[in-house]
Amino acid sequence: MSGTFPITIDGKEIAARDGQMILEAALAAGVKIPHFCHDPRLTPVASCRMCIVGIDGRDGYHTACNTPAKPGMRILNDVPEIADLRRENVELILAHHNLRCTSCDRDGDCGLQEYAYLYQANEKRFGAFSAPTKKENYTSANRGIDYDPELCIRCGRCVRFCDEIQMAKALTWKERGRDTEISTAFGIQLHESSCELCGGCVRVCPTGAMYEKGARGKGRAVDLRKVRTTCTYCGVGCQLDLNVHKETGKIIRVTSEPGCVINDGNLCVKGHFAFDFVHSPERLTTPLIRRNGSFESASWEEAIELVGRRFREIRKKHGPDGVAFLSSCRCTNEENYLMQKLARAAMGTNMIDQCATTCHAPTVAGLAAAFGSGAMTNSVDEIKDVDVMFVIGSNTTEAHPIVGLEMKKALRRGATLIVVDPRQTWLARHAHIHIQHRPGSDNFLINAMMNHIIQKRLHNKEFVESRCENFEAFRKNLEKCDIEEAAAYCGVSAEDCKRAAEIYAKGNPSAIFYTLGITEHSCGTDNVKNQANLAMLCGQIGKRSSGVNPLRGQNNVQGGCDMGAMPHKLPGYQNWDDPATREKFAKRWGVELPENKGGRVTDFIEQAGEGALKAFYVMGEDPVSSEPNQPKVIAALGKLDFLVCQEIFMSETAKHADVILPGACFAEKDGTFTCSERRVQRVRKAVDPPGQARPDWQIIADVAHAMGYEMPYGHPSEIWDELASLAPSMAGISYDRIEETGLQWPCPTRDHPGTKYLHEGRFTRGLGFFTPITFAPQKEEPDDDYPLILSTGRTLYHYNVGNMTRKAAAANQKQPGNFVEMHPRTAKRYGIKQGEPVEVETRRGRIVARAEVGEKMRVDTIWMPFHFVEAPTNVLTNDVFDPVTRTAEYKCCAARIRRKGKR
Ligand code: SF4
Repeated sequence: MSGTFPITIDGKEIAARDGQMILEAALAAGVKIPHFCHDPRLTPVASCRMCIVGIDGRDGYHTACNTPAKPGMRILNDVPEIADLRRENVELILAHHNLRCTSCDRDGDCGLQEYAYLYQANEKRFGAFSAPTKKENYTSANRGIDYDPELCIRCGRCVRFCDEIQMAKALTWKERGRDTEISTAFGIQLHESSCELCGGCVRVCPTGAMYEKGARGKGRAVDLRKVRTTCTYCGVGCQLDLNVHKETGKIIRVTSEPGCVINDGNLCVKGHFAFDFVHSPERLTTPLIRRNGSFESASWEEAIELVGRRFREIRKKHGPDGVAFLSSCRCTNEENYLMQKLARAAMGTNMIDQCATTCHAPTVAGLAAAFGSGAMTNSVDEIKDVDVMFVIGSNTTEAHPIVGLEMKKALRRGATLIVVDPRQTWLARHAHIHIQHRPGSDNFLINAMMNHIIQKRLHNKEFVESRCENFEAFRKNLEKCDIEEAAAYCGVSAEDCKRAAEIYAKGNPSAIFYTLGITEHSCGTDNVKNQANLAMLCGQIGKRSSGVNPLRGQNNVQGGCDMGAMPHKLPGYQNWDDPATREKFAKRWGVELPENKGGRVTDFIEQAGEGALKAFYVMGEDPVSSEPNQPKVIAALGKLDFLVCQEIFMSETAKHADVILPGACFAEKDGTFTCSERRVQRVRKAVDPPGQARPDWQIIADVAHAMGYEMPYGHPSEIWDELASLAPSMAGISYDRIEETGLQWPCPTRDHPGTKYLHEGRFTRGLGFFTPITFAPQKEEPDDDYPLILSTGRTLYHYNVGNMTRKAAAANQKQPGNFVEMHPRTAKRYGIKQGEPVEVETRRGRIVARAEVGEKMRVDTIWMPFHFVEAPTNVLTNDVFDPVTRTAEYKCCAARIRRKGKR
């Protein structure tokens, strides 16, 4: 292989690469060289000196972690003279360490104990050098992380991780010499510092000095078994290990290994600290049936019989479209496949949807129209090599933190960052250009930027002519889009817009990243199409580290769409009304497919409100909390004849149900999730479900049976195999192929390696399609009564409607309740002070939240998260929709604020 050369370690020949350090080459070849301060993700500092080696022909000893391997190098590693030096190193480290390895029985896999035994270190040789440690420290009041200075060997990995990788700069060195400790600046409590609770310090600590507070004393490494699975929160798809106590069967802690695909051992606060919910006493453990206004426990037989009977009765009386099904992106692919099959094959309706309508349905529609495929075009590991990152409507470091880490990596390497966002996010603060535009003005801005690119002749003429169609109509539509006029409307600098457009066009390569700031508008599909227009115009698609990258919200929203849990697409994005496709599915399922086109969740709610929808089966979703205009949603559900909720907690929607079926959570079942980069990955059972709770796929199969349709599956892999036989883009994926790293679709055959990036040489639809977009402002503009724009979004510490992360002690400590962000000038105008309760009101309702005053927001805009059931932001949001996908305009409506109680 070019760039590689041989070196020898203790006479054994191994391959090294150009630029590789000796330690890296050795570890890659399976040769052990001891180390403490080294971590493959960190810049080497060679401070612990455990990795010293001898090099033939060179004087002295050399630290392997920061000595580059050279062709023909002959290295001495496992020889007595080096072992003596390493023993002395261990003995010196032990002098700083107040515990004896030979009697230590503390938590964690301890590297020091391993080396103390390996080198037979004398624990008393240098006496106790460290100052007596204090019990109270900067983690004393923290509910996530615990620092025990007695175990600390001052290797500094935690400080460097916090600084270099997470770029949070929460940890630092305190004091000098024998008093040296790890701390925060000025010793303030960790949760009051800039710590983001990513848990990186815990994961890199070699001795367990940094540890999860909730896991201390709950089990040594030997007591735990690790179960590799996929994170259940956002769509990044991080791989993590649930550490389960062998005797109690409880999850004690979460770890992740460097080198694992997508996240390289990194996790965010949710992936590391937000699994308290699994063993929560609030879990639903038995089926519940509402009788005389209250819930009573029931047997599974009774509950399933009731659901099947009521569905059959309603179908007979009102037709199959009298029942709607809401599938769940919290659930596995197999469960989503079965839910849409239940709707179509057992009930006979296309009234099937999932949460993509709430978030990324405009992506599916918009990118499919432009490219022929509605998915993220590129892969997460390509981000580090992007030249220009164009991030629009995405608070990536909070909503998709591990993708945010890759962006930080690209920034450190010298990439240019352009952020277009009404809010000053972390990325915006670190961007080369931040365009802080008015919410909802994206198309005005992007149209003008594209016109500027064409006027400057910076577009990729060759790409446009050879790979795309409808350019002339698109170009003509842009002629009227003046960048000065657009900048004035958006409230930003025209010069910044011009510069950003030029930098994006010239990038080598440039990549677009977006999330709900683009999709959750009444013009969401047009917004997405314009991202596709921009990429095609500049030829920034169809190649590595480029493309249009929608970062999907929920863990399995990509999979939910792939599985056909939406009205107009069958599994694998096959059109529901294509005769050949219908025949294929009808043959496999043994039934005729429904004739009506069905509806989306926002249609279900409207139809329920009008009395047209009679029954609703909701699996793992909470529309009362997640849909806009909450009062209207509650009133609509109240008109249903029959509401079934399949849930792990008593959600706000479940409170209105007639029957509640207790489901198993992700840690309690097998299956697969598909993450944003189209990678199908395994979900593995680590613990038993509580009480009588059962995996959702088994419950759905029982409901189908009660409706007279058989789903005789013995394991989720059998469901996947059926899906693969029907969906050509996933035909090559099977459980045996995704054990290690998963596979990215399209993967049409058993020998196909999966697809890292899409549209190389040819778009899925053939030619890329330019759509002329006309700017349309937000549906509810500010006025004298409601003079502000309310925008909403997600935070780092909580997830969606909060019913899982609100049970996580560490996350809750960091962010305990709802808040409303506003600019200091806005606060002054209404006489509001930082931290005081504020009434936020729209035409739909009013809630109270804490004022968060700062420079993040524009003066005309306020911002709120939607995770807090006690102050539900969706009381305020506007139920107006994108006409193509019926996605609501969560990102802008008119609002007013005042100090609580002030009239
Ligand atoms: Fe889980 Fe997303 Fe965090 Fe990764 S980035 S640990 S997938 S929540």
